[in-house]
Amino acid sequence: MQGTRNIHVERIEKFLSDTYFTDVNLRGKIYPVIDKNACNLKVSEKCDRITFDESQSLKYESCKVGKVFGPSWSSFWFQVSIDVPQSMKGEEVHFLWNSSSEALIWRDGAPIQGLTGGTWVDKRIEYKLFDVAEGGEHVELVIEMACNGMFGVGRDGLINACDPTKTFTLVQCEIGVFDRDAYTLFTYLTMLHDVAKNNTSNTYNPQPTNTNPSMTEFTQRANQALRLANDLINQVDVDDRTTFKPAIERAQKEFFEQANGDGCHGVSAIGHCHIDVAWLWPYAETKRKCARSFATQLLYMDYYRDYKFVQSQAQLYSWTKQLYPQLYARMLVMASKGQWVTTGGTWVEMDGNLPGGESFVRQFLHGQRFFKSEFGQYCTEFWLPDTFGYSGQLPQVVRHAGISNFITQKLSWNNINKFPHSTFIWEGIDGSRVLTHFPPANTYNSAADVKEVQMCESNHKNNDVSNNSLMIYGHGDGGGGPNIEMIERLSRLSDTNGIPQVKLQSPAEFFKVIEKDKDRLPVWIGELYFELHRGTYTTQANCKKGNRKCEQLLHDVEALSTILDLHKVEGFQYPRLKELWELLLLNQFHDVLPGSSIGMVYKDAAEHHGHIQQQVYDIIKKTMAHLVGGNVSGEHQEHSVAGDDDAFDLVVFNPSPFDCEKIIELPDHFESPQKSINGHPLAAIKVPSYGFVRVNQATFSKSMENIAFARVNGDGSVALENPFLQVLVTKEGAISSIVDRRVNRQVIDANEKVLGGIGNRFVLYDDQCLFWDAWDVEIYSQNKYKVLGGAEGGAKIIENGPYRVAIEFSYPQLTSKSSIKQIIYLSNNSPRIDFETVVEWHENRKMLKVEFPTTIRAMNCKYDIQFGHVERPTHKNTTWDVAKFEVCGHKWADLSEYGYGVALLNDCKYGYSVSGGVMRLSLLRSAKSPDDEADMGTHRFTYSLLPHTGDLQQSGVITEGYALNTQFHTVQVPSTPVSLQELPFNLPTLQSFVRVNCAISNSLASTTSPTLPPSPTLLQPPPLLTSSVIIETLKKCEEGDGYIIRVYESFGGKTNYSFNFCPSANISTIVPVNGLEEELKDERSYKPGESIPINPFQIQSFKLV
Ligand SMILES: [Zn+2]
Repeated sequence: MQGTRNIHVERIEKFLSDTYFTDVNLRGKIYPVIDKNACNLKVSEKCDRITFDESQSLKYESCKVGKVFGPSWSSFWFQVSIDVPQSMKGEEVHFLWNSSSEALIWRDGAPIQGLTGGTWVDKRIEYKLFDVAEGGEHVELVIEMACNGMFGVGRDGLINACDPTKTFTLVQCEIGVFDRDAYTLFTYLTMLHDVAKNNTSNTYNPQPTNTNPSMTEFTQRANQALRLANDLINQVDVDDRTTFKPAIERAQKEFFEQANGDGCHGVSAIGHCHIDVAWLWPYAETKRKCARSFATQLLYMDYYRDYKFVQSQAQLYSWTKQLYPQLYARMLVMASKGQWVTTGGTWVEMDGNLPGGESFVRQFLHGQRFFKSEFGQYCTEFWLPDTFGYSGQLPQVVRHAGISNFITQKLSWNNINKFPHSTFIWEGIDGSRVLTHFPPANTYNSAADVKEVQMCESNHKNNDVSNNSLMIYGHGDGGGGPNIEMIERLSRLSDTNGIPQVKLQSPAEFFKVIEKDKDRLPVWIGELYFELHRGTYTTQANCKKGNRKCEQLLHDVEALSTILDLHKVEGFQYPRLKELWELLLLNQFHDVLPGSSIGMVYKDAAEHHGHIQQQVYDIIKKTMAHLVGGNVSGEHQEHSVAGDDDAFDLVVFNPSPFDCEKIIELPDHFESPQKSINGHPLAAIKVPSYGFVRVNQATFSKSMENIAFARVNGDGSVALENPFLQVLVTKEGAISSIVDRRVNRQVIDANEKVLGGIGNRFVLYDDQCLFWDAWDVEIYSQNKYKVLGGAEGGAKIIENGPYRVAIEFSYPQLTSKSSIKQIIYLSNNSPRIDFETVVEWHENRKMLKVEFPTTIRAMNCKYDIQFGHVERPTHKNTTWDVAKFEVCGHKWADLSEYGYGVALLNDCKYGYSVSGGVMRLSLLRSAKSPDDEADMGTHRFTYSLLPHTGDLQQSGVITEGYALNTQFHTVQVPSTPVSLQELPFNLPTLQSFVRVNCAISNSLASTTSPTLPPSPTLLQPPPLLTSSVIIETLKKCEEGDGYIIRVYESFGGKTNYSFNFCPSANISTIVPVNGLEEELKDERSYKPGESIPINPFQIQSFKLV
């Protein structure tokens, strides 16, 4: 075939085409007989998403193919009566349905198979009625039609915002005779074509010339496949069904039964349907996608007894159990047979960057507990194929949940550097290791064709030491998982020379195979930074804020409830928080929290976050009431109490792991040297960690040691001063100077060019990406920006000491469409400058950042992540450094040189970019797809600048990060002479419920500036003392008695610590447990006060008994 190769390849394509020559090719003979009149059809009135039972009482009318249905997201139910004609006796008969939309077949009241209409490759329109028909059968089917496609209802294109007016046409409703021999021959020819077309001799010609490729550019196997396929086409007569079988036998004998040698690559293939729990459709539709996909796969498990299918995400199982009990029962049966395989271990496949540390733990706690109780076993691998980057603490969290294997592949989408490994050891920031595999076919939706099977070998970057790979195949996103073609192909590739050996195996079976290679595999240490989708740290800001707030409140209510429960407060019952946690975990899904879903999803998320907050506030209020004998008046107050009832004192709870002094508003009968802008008395109240104080006029001291004050200069600028800093704010709201009094050092780099040497500047970046609008901020955006003008109307001093100063600025014309109002706070007790910000945001593909040029010189910047921090470069030496131009950080980023540093903190943001000495926090984006309203409107957030002496660990940055994100909870108590000891709750005030004594803690000695004149009003601030071991969580055990305390080492250094519990808690033993709250048999228990060793960034969980 020299010189005619392409012609002969294309000949095969045309013989298999479903578009061309179907009247004379093999594809057209798979259904040799179609009966369009066998189905009698009735359709219901339009309805919402309803149950099968509810569908019975709808009104029905007769209907024909060609009818149009809509609008988007509505539903219709069909009654299909089928009479199989006598002429189909002895034949395999299929029902064929294409409503250009998603649909579900019900039979005898049970969901039986999903259908995907349309014209795309992932359409699934056939349902097998009979293997061998008798002729004359009557079948009743019900079809539930959803007016949406697999990828929702986007306006002209995949990720566009929804078109609410879309319609869907019923184009096919008929039965057909299925010729299984024609289909089998079709399968073989498809595979021969793939080998013939794609198997090049890489060594010489990696890319064959398209016009006239030479035979030598391809492998011998490819040429053999080409010859055989053409011979088979010559051999068969498509109009004579008896010619198919001999051709099948020849294909088997002359190609597919020719075996491989011993060193052949092995592929473990597992069927899968990646289901985005919400994305281009809302949660409500996902519940139906589950039914459609799971029904299909359960049916195929009946067809193919060795077929295996894997499904993750406990949430999907939970919905199915609740809404489709018949399907769920069959899932359990197939799981017991090993055909249905559970995986992942998490509640949902969450985002890998944004959830807090405790959320990560809870994803596994709720997920694994669900799988154990429903399926009898924990998942053995962490499954997160589609998340936009992976935190450096995930390996430890995964191991803490009893899992040691991990599957993902998303880094194959990197758009700058190619990730160098396929099978490797991933080591987290604490040294925990997980055996990790990136399926080399670079997809979790493989088409299971020969090309991708071969890619498993050719693209396996560690195939020198590991000879196996995993292939995850099937249509995702409700596409229903693998189709029959895929299963048929793979089951014929168990051992064919030139093609890797395929086994239908579970991920667990795969990991068992590669376990032996473990010692020779490369190690990747630290985060798996994803070089794409960097906009997801910022898009849909309110969803991120809701998540941060809910995480904090659930933490607070657990800590408070644990303290009361431990003290056996009469009448108090530990609240049920499981559903609230699961609602939060749901909204951490990898298209929800990152901001990449349609607008409908964010309405749901806002409602869920609002519900969690309301519920938690309610519980906290009731719980605090137990402190005062059950009498509580007024609304629950977070951080401030206003009111003029002079009969009340305050009890204040500090839910943070640090002793904390906050300036709060008091009831109006208190006398104070300062009133807030709202007219209420202010006071600095110090509360011990996880502890309480009672505040009344007698205990609350008015004497001021330190003060903060502001003064307007002649040029309109404002000088702010406290014991730590002298800050100069221009009349436009920018920071032109920060002198740290402790070391007499200027923090703002006046020589910096772009920002003009001033900080707190808003910069508007052009934010047009290449395709994935909500997902991507691209590298070139850094070079197209506008430094925005300053505030107008000058500074307004709205509070002026002694506790704090507050100055207000307004940017009514930030741009022609957007505006900002900002209050800058400096208090007497902290070097932290807070910027409380309200933005009216109405931009199109612009990104807003706030920027500070600092005088710090450091090669790396540290960023807060879950249970620790990571470092990333501030330079662009290599392409790996270049790629990290926008990164994820949680509560803070810290840029420190020897002896001094600056931290930029936030209360709900996640995107940072620090280059050289310039620190930038990403505030808002304005992507238009898939939500054309994303982020439009009002936003409230606070960011803070914290200049500090010492390095990160010595600085108190970590403590301040907690302080900024934590609020006190208060309750009013009668100001009768009742001490807290006499109240039902017997915890002495001014004592922490629990604190840690730690060998490593910073002691930041203050130094007086040699050059600044000593101020009679400013005394030296006290040294900051913080422990490196942080108590992150206090909660009741999920099961049985006992409480969980979870700590981590935050500095990155090995140390020892001990727990110091308040004696009334009666803790006797501290028992090590894992993240699933199971006792660790190999580890010893401790007594309170006893020294416990901990490693850098280690997470430790204990059960308190
Ligand atoms: Zn996904």
